[in-house]
Amino acid sequence: MTERIVVGAALLDGGRLLAARRSAPEELAGRWELPGGKVEPGEAPEAALVRELREELGVDAEVIERVPGQWPLKPPYVLQVWTVRLLPGTPDPKPLQDHDALRWLESGEVWDVDWLDQDVPAVREVAERLGAG
Ligand code: C5P
Repeated sequence: MTERIVVGAALLDGGRLLAARRSAPEELAGRWELPGGKVEPGEAPEAALVRELREELGVDAEVIERVPGQWPLKPPYVLQVWTVRLLPGTPDPKPLQDHDALRWLESGEVWDVDWLDQDVPAVREVAERLGAG
């Protein structure tokens, strides 16, 4: 089966990391994730990330760089993560679809939320880069 990429955003602002709480599907509801979603066929991962952040959170964001690594989700999906920052003048993210809460986590708070199991290794990688591992 061909691997399909799910992109996740390590959305950073002043050393804080954005976590989003899923409201659906039922088995994931209440757990926290890096916002993102599936890359469409023919779409570049970075473009998918910008599109998903606009759709899910109503923000305009700039992709900075790939976080090394790739983490398995339900086959055929794999999670890849990029650091991202809000573009100047962008309002605070709004939970619009799929999410019912957002939190900006200070470096000491990264592990205060119940991350999806499959996001934990990605968050660990991001946290180490923030000096918050
Ligand atoms: O958001 P969307 O439904 O497009 O995400 C596709 C799949 O990727 C979901 O099933 C979700 O479980 C998974 N995902 C994840 N971690 C993320 C983002 C999405 O496991 N940070």
